[in-house]
Amino acid sequence: MPEGDILRRAARSLDTALAGRRLVRAELRWPSAAGVDLVGLTVVRTVPYGKHLFTRFDDGRSLHTHLRMEGSWRLVRTGTAEARAASPWVRAVLGTPEWTAVGHRLGMLDVVRTEDEHTLVGHLGPDVLADDFPTHGLAVALGNVADRAEVPIAEVLLDQRVCAGIGTLYAAESLYARRLWPWTPAGEVRDVPSLLMTARRLMERSVAAPTPTATGDGPRGLTSWVHDRAGRPCLRCGTAIVRGVARTPPMERPIFYCPRCQVGR
Ligand SMILES: [Zn+2]
Repeated sequence: MPEGDILRRAARSLDTALAGRRLVRAELRWPSAAGVDLVGLTVVRTVPYGKHLFTRFDDGRSLHTHLRMEGSWRLVRTGTAEARAASPWVRAVLGTPEWTAVGHRLGMLDVVRTEDEHTLVGHLGPDVLADDFPTHGLAVALGNVADRAEVPIAEVLLDQRVCAGIGTLYAAESLYARRLWPWTPAGEVRDVPSLLMTARRLMERSVAAPTPTATGDGPRGLTSWVHDRAGRPCLRCGTAIVRGVARTPPMERPIFYCPRCQVGR
């Protein structure tokens, strides 16, 4: 599932291709946006917030998209076969004379006034990758964590209302880095600021990693210590990594951890 770093990379790719350019094609294959016409508008920029993207236009509107589990924005050269975007999974097409951005399997799509963007993300905690997170968002996030003292720390990290942008990969990797057992009640975690800043640093590394292709694919500049490594030896102690489950069905999510390096009470 795309986490905040992937959304930032997607925004960067979309800006490279679309920012400052006029749309010659715009298709929103989404029932509630069927009548919306964006052709002729100039794209201002795409702004990420947590796992959400807002592509802003020069008429004061924004296209809000969310990648959910499998969504992606791909950039292809206008005029190529891919730019026809014939797949039934395509939900949005934004085209300039040079580039066409194709949104596949998007999980949400709305067109809103730019000044109303906050109504779609107002329930979320501060974006862990925002520039002002260390000086402003962190304190807000710490308050949100404190409100959930009984909740396992892994579930608190995954809760977008606490802090937006962290998913299963960065929850697992930052808990491992801080040697925290994922089911430690949040109120018993001694250094929550360091935990949140560790998640931010790992994600920043991914954002900074070069994007080798225009589609935004490529390595995230991250060594996975535990995520997706169930049964394989811990790179620190050799113990087999375990795949745990955070939250309850149908909202359960995998959390990978080392049962030796990350001990509970
Ligand atoms: Zn270990």
